[in-house]
Amino acid sequence: MSRLILGVDVGGTTTAAGVVTADGDVIGWQSAPTHGAADPLATMTALITGVRKAVGRRAETIGAAGVGVPGPVDAARGRIGEPVTHVPALAGRALAGELGERLGLPVFVDNDVNALALGEWMFGAGRGSRSLVVLAAGTGIGAGIVLDGRIVRGAAGFGGELGHVPVKFDGERCFCGGRGCLSIYASGRGIADAARARAAGHPEAALVKAAAGDSQGITAPLVFRAAADGDHVAAAIVDEACQALGAMIGIIVNGLNPEVVVVTGGVAQSLVPLEPKILGAAAEYTLPRALAATRITIVPGDKRIGVRGAAALALYEERTSS
Ligand SMILES: [Zn+2]
Repeated sequence: MSRLILGVDVGGTTTAAGVVTADGDVIGWQSAPTHGAADPLATMTALITGVRKAVGRRAETIGAAGVGVPGPVDAARGRIGEPVTHVPALAGRALAGELGERLGLPVFVDNDVNALALGEWMFGAGRGSRSLVVLAAGTGIGAGIVLDGRIVRGAAGFGGELGHVPVKFDGERCFCGGRGCLSIYASGRGIADAARARAAGHPEAALVKAAAGDSQGITAPLVFRAAADGDHVAAAIVDEACQALGAMIGIIVNGLNPEVVVVTGGVAQSLVPLEPKILGAAAEYTLPRALAATRITIVPGDKRIGVRGAAALALYEERTSS
């Protein structure tokens, strides 16, 4: 029987845990609201108990666990940094140690998008490559970078913070303190904010009607739908998102020249029909020969690839530390 790994993907809303094979198959997984228990660690351990039970005797071969967390992580120490906006109870916790003690297993912790990048690199769209960049567009935008077989964490753990790289140098102010960041134009929150601002005071606008008359109720999926239905305001916002993603692909490809770029996350499903537009924008900003050597793929995000990524993190850490 080959060895199994536990993967835990902690999200702002939902936490998922699963048992993953050495080939990256998720053979059992469960999810629960992150804030369902007083301590998110209790949610994690309850889910792990559940998935261990679900795989029966095979649970005996589980050798390690990986955890992806939506915030900054000191991966070498297994300690969470600050702030963890959506799961504040985890800020500053020595999670690898705490969870490791409860499970009796080696536990490895990293930022969720770094884990996702390792999962795509080992088992997903980047399998067999030496370098890839994963851009995860959800409420915000995160990224994970694998270069020459190593995850790039950087001097202070900010490696891959591409959501806050400017794509418009004289653009709007961002909450991070910078301006013109990719997140302003292409994150779920940024797209919804732009639509709310443009629709406010226009009760007759199609976007406001679609949000039951309340401009504050406009969401990113609603903007994508309205754009597809021919609404001009929504279409302009979606065009800007595609252009911003194209510029970021230019930054990634010209700056790092990876073999594979994966665009994923909660917004990715809405981006699938826009792929030709995004690739067209990318060509405007990217050196043609560098772009020709890069495979760009849009992978709709789901909890299963988050679980697989967390398990890939554990496999990666065991491999690089041995
Ligand atoms: Zn920013």
